[in-house]
Amino acid sequence: AKELGRDNFQFYAPEFNATAQEKFLLQEELRNALARAEFTLLYQPQVDLRSGNVFAAEALIRWNHPSLGLIAPMKFIPMAEETGLIVPIGDWVLHEACRQNKAWQDAGLPPLVVCVNVSARQFKEKNLISRVVDALTNSGLDVKYLELEVTESLIMQNVEMAVATMNQLQSLGVQISIDDFGTGYSSLSALKTFPVARLKIDKSFINDLATDENDQAVASAVISLGQKLNLRVIAEGVETDDQIAFLRKNNCDEMQGYHFSKPVSAHGIARLLYKEQGG
Ligand code: C2E
Ligand code: CA
Ligand code: CA
Ligand code: CA
Repeated sequence: AKELGRDNFQFYAPEFNATAQEKFLLQEELRNALARAEFTLLYQPQVDLRSGNVFAAEALIRWNHPSLGLIAPMKFIPMAEETGLIVPIGDWVLHEACRQNKAWQDAGLPPLVVCVNVSARQFKEKNLISRVVDALTNSGLDVKYLELEVTESLIMQNVEMAVATMNQLQSLGVQISIDDFGTGYSSLSALKTFPVARLKIDKSFINDLATDENDQAVASAVISLGQKLNLRVIAEGVETDDQIAFLRKNNCDEMQGYHFSKPVSAHGIARLLYKEQGG
């Protein structure tokens, strides 16, 4: 997927070594960013390891700041969580991802599942379910093409509450993945009660997969756990052939990472799907 290169924005703003005042200013700007339409979504393809098909794409937010340029989520999501701004921002992400996915389908491209990250604060909102319903209704997207990614550590903060919310989402027909799996210490007995479709092996176990025996042990354990619980397993952060060889050998279902594609614009996904279709 070399020609996708054009869409890879690499010019992130340098670290803000933010003083209290700078932080305050940035917070003010974050508050205005939604109204000024400064957010954008990139999408990273997810690939079936057996067929090689792209079946899904994860929506990843970027803040296109007027003077600082494109800002990565790690630089503003924590602040958005602290201030509660993550709730309207997350709502925008949900609506935009559903709208875009429907637009790809309306353009005649092969249907994809769009995966949306849900933050802790957003997940705990009382009206999360109705916000999800709104996003589906407004976009006209069939619920089977929406998946939510919830981190393992978020679930573990309050398992009972999380399972109740996930059950409601599941009864709507929304699929759920557990993101950053392996970092959040879920017990096996808890895991089997989670109404989820998929585990995402955290990047930190994939980075040195070719050489680190501990990471190999964790990755293969997660894959066989997934098989036993009838959950699909995806590896994130896959960059090398060696990592893919290990994942294939251990029967991992799916992968996502720079090896196949970095996150790209909506247009980049359309081109990729068009080519896959034989266009
Ligand atoms: P995440 O959900 O674990 O997303 C995966 C991150 O890994 C993305 O970083 C992606 O660009 C990066 N990545 C994917 N493949 C590779 C690879 O092969 N190598 C390396 N080194 N990195 C890879 P990104 O886009 O900077 O997002 C970082 C985090 O910000 C996400 O981690 C997620 O926690 C959060 N985030 C992103 N978008 C949203 C959003 O719309 N809502 C919320 N609540 N959080 C978001
Ligand atoms: Ca994710
Ligand atoms: Ca992740
Ligand atoms: Ca992560």
